[in-house]
Amino acid sequence: MQTVSIDPCRLPPECETLRSEVRAFLAETLTDFPAAQRARNWSGADPAFSRKLGARGWIGMTWPRRFGGQQRSPLERYVVLEELLACGAPVGAHWVAERQSALLLMRLSPEVLAPRIVPSIARGETYFCIGMSEPDAGSDLAAIRTRAVRTGEGWVINGRKLWTSGAHRAHYMIALVRTGPPGEARHAGMSQLLVEMKTPGLTIRPIRNQLGEHDFNEVTFDDVCVPHEHLIGAEGDGWSQVAGELAFERSGPERYLSSSQLLLEMLDAADAGDPRQAVALGRITAHYATLRQMSLGVSGMLARGENPALAAALVKDQGALVEQALPDVAHDLFGGLAAPGSSLAEVMSYTTRAAPSFSLRGGTREILRGIIAKGLGLR
Ligand SMILES: Cc1cc2nc3c(=O)[nH]c(=O)nc-3n(C[C@H](O)[C@H](O)[C@H](O)COP(=O)(O)OP(=O)(O)OC[C@H]3O[C@@H](n4cnc5c(N)ncnc54)[C@H](O)[C@@H]3O)c2cc1C
Repeated sequence: MQTVSIDPCRLPPECETLRSEVRAFLAETLTDFPAAQRARNWSGADPAFSRKLGARGWIGMTWPRRFGGQQRSPLERYVVLEELLACGAPVGAHWVAERQSALLLMRLSPEVLAPRIVPSIARGETYFCIGMSEPDAGSDLAAIRTRAVRTGEGWVINGRKLWTSGAHRAHYMIALVRTGPPGEARHAGMSQLLVEMKTPGLTIRPIRNQLGEHDFNEVTFDDVCVPHEHLIGAEGDGWSQVAGELAFERSGPERYLSSSQLLLEMLDAADAGDPRQAVALGRITAHYATLRQMSLGVSGMLARGENPALAAALVKDQGALVEQALPDVAHDLFGGLAAPGSSLAEVMSYTTRAAPSFSLRGGTREILRGIIAKGLGLR
């Protein structure tokens, strides 16, 4: 069996100066932001907050200046993300666009689409959603059926995407579609298209999640026509492009910091003299410290230009395990103690209901473990 190691990474001193700036900004901007909202973490969307962050230069920090970026290091970006997530800032509006869509546009359409769109992502004004999953294509993404046909006017798309988070807030989707001839090998003949959400023929229907809230959607395409230049990358290269996009999607600290508000609430409510609480909370804190080292190590790999896909899959898998265990610990330690309506009770209730999705979104636990096994030479 091969082994995987994630080299420890130390943050340079300028990162700590930046951390203080971000903390001061968050303390001032989110003064009255309630704990129940902070618990939503990167699912909570507030366009006004995204624009404020953009104005500070904290969206797309590592991007070239010509695309509105600041050309700062991935480690500086890591510190900003870490602070935003640790305090539950409402970053959901721009999250997908910054984490993955802009990177795809800069890499695969640097002359046409990126100059037009990426600067407004950096300003926190333009939002994206991910058009991958379909009714019978989730883990098995190569089973997608949504099809685009090249015509004189552009690409004409027909089909259906499912579980599209934030489609109702997004300006654009990057859709994975079939463009090859019917019957072609399942991993061939796929392409990625940029779709404006206001295009005629595109319908967004809300799907309530298990919290009873509207974040997911079903998006249908009925003869939706997008310009030829909205093809991202090369026709037929969609499968390898989407694999690169998923590596961006899985490599950030949000994969273990979704539930930090619950840990903070527990620490606030803890009785220093209670050994049972001390043991349980100490154990979780130790897990967080380890996950942070691993996650920072992934950022170090990105900073060195290495491929972090395997290490990122490990952090996401282990992060989801720790986060999904938190609600049980909270109920065990504080179930009878949290006053109804208190922030601990509200955050506990939210996180308990949200946590099952953590090992589904962005690739299920089983799929990630398959990737890890492959990386270790076990399959
Ligand atoms: C909160 C949330 C947000 C999401 N947002 C988006 C989004 O914005 N855009 C988007 O495109 N999608 C989104 N998704 C969809 C997500 O990517 C899929 O749910 C996920 O890929 C799993 O697909 P599925 O739901 O069809 O389940 P399935 O693929 O049907 O899997 C069902 C179960 O079978 C297991 N399984 C499947 N295949 C295998 C295998 N080969 N070996 C072992 N076990 C297997 C899975 O692990 C899972 O436990 C979101 C999902 C969630 C929960």
